[in-house]
Amino acid sequence: MRITDLKIHPIAIADPPLFSSYGLHASYAPRIVIELVSEDGLIGIAEAHGGEAALAAFQAWRPRVIGADAFTLPARLLPAGDSAEPGADRSQTWRVPGENPFDADWRVYSALEIASLDLLGRALGRPVCDLLGGRVRDAVPFSAYAFYKLAGGGGEAEDARDDQYGEIRTPAAVAASVRRMISEYGFREVKLKAGVFPPREEMEAIRALRAELGPEIPLRLDPNSVWSLTTAFDVALGLRQELAQGGYLEDPVAGLDGMAELRRQMRAAGLETPLASNVAVTGFQDLPAAIANDAVQIVLCDPHYWGGLRQIQHLGRLCATFHLGLSMHSNTHLGVSLMAMAHAAAVTPQLQFACDTHYPWQSAEDEIVAGGRIRFHEGCVPIPGRPGLGVDLDYDQLARGRERYRRGWGHRRDDAGEMRRRIDPAWRRQIPRW
Ligand SMILES: [Mg+2]
Repeated sequence: MRITDLKIHPIAIADPPLFSSYGLHASYAPRIVIELVSEDGLIGIAEAHGGEAALAAFQAWRPRVIGADAFTLPARLLPAGDSAEPGADRSQTWRVPGENPFDADWRVYSALEIASLDLLGRALGRPVCDLLGGRVRDAVPFSAYAFYKLAGGGGEAEDARDDQYGEIRTPAAVAASVRRMISEYGFREVKLKAGVFPPREEMEAIRALRAELGPEIPLRLDPNSVWSLTTAFDVALGLRQELAQGGYLEDPVAGLDGMAELRRQMRAAGLETPLASNVAVTGFQDLPAAIANDAVQIVLCDPHYWGGLRQIQHLGRLCATFHLGLSMHSNTHLGVSLMAMAHAAAVTPQLQFACDTHYPWQSAEDEIVAGGRIRFHEGCVPIPGRPGLGVDLDYDQLARGRERYRRGWGHRRDDAGEMRRRIDPAWRRQIPRW
């Protein structure tokens, strides 16, 4: 099935002012939506990280895509490896996901792989999961993803979005926001983005969540690498009960060496809380060292930069082989990405943790999926029986997203710059911060 066109749509979507150790989310986030058009007029879609660099990358790949066969396009375009020099820091320690030059090719490839699967699914009348061996679950669990934030729902001036969560800076506010998210979506696992306030306060937030939610809900804590070994050990010790039973500690310290050393110290003290990573482990190339040094016990995959859905299946087999757990990372995204993530999880039996998602933080005003936002059922996204990913584009909404981007909004993710603009002109990312 010959590809006759690759349409690339840069869009901006409103994003609330969420804190992380990288800084603060700006009022708009960039995304890219692609359409693969076949010779018989069918269209396959995917959603990717956005911004000017990503846009240029998709445009550079376009000549290789036009004329290719949708059935064999993934094999033809598979990147040989990453573009890092030997010994280079491939991690996301200093770069937010989507801005890492070392997986730039993989991000484009991932979107093309997903769009080609969507296209083939539409042509064959089968859901994407059926093209990859079939679903192992009919509904994919996602986790509540709590953030500290300023008041505001994203967007600016007359384009500002409603904010149902308000300012979140205290343990009580974190617990209230999660209660609200759970009542709306039904999530059964919870993650708190940390590394924002002194660890003592963030530990109190985890305790508040445990008190609010009872003993059954697994809790995870992710400070994105900004703790020292001593601090991370103290948090692991202090929260050994709260993070047990299916919870984990995600990227508490920087780098695989740091994670390995923390693990050694924790095990010597009888602490078995697993360490998870999407910062120190960003692709297959990181697995040998991570496994050899027991640096990471849970890998967070992401179909947006690991290479699409088939690579997530490969990763699942590897994780099971080496007794690693598998979870899923998320970035700001809309419904097309959510469905790609759901199909990836549906065809990967080794994925046993609820997937992260930023989806509750996005607004219906920005959704590009026809029919509006994807509906969750008891914390899960049901896998539809419809062909492809199971969603179509709303072209009016897509045009609105393009118009926001054309106005110059959200062309590059710059969390540190937003932090300096709104909070502290002297702010810079510091590792370790605590
Ligand atoms: Mg993370």
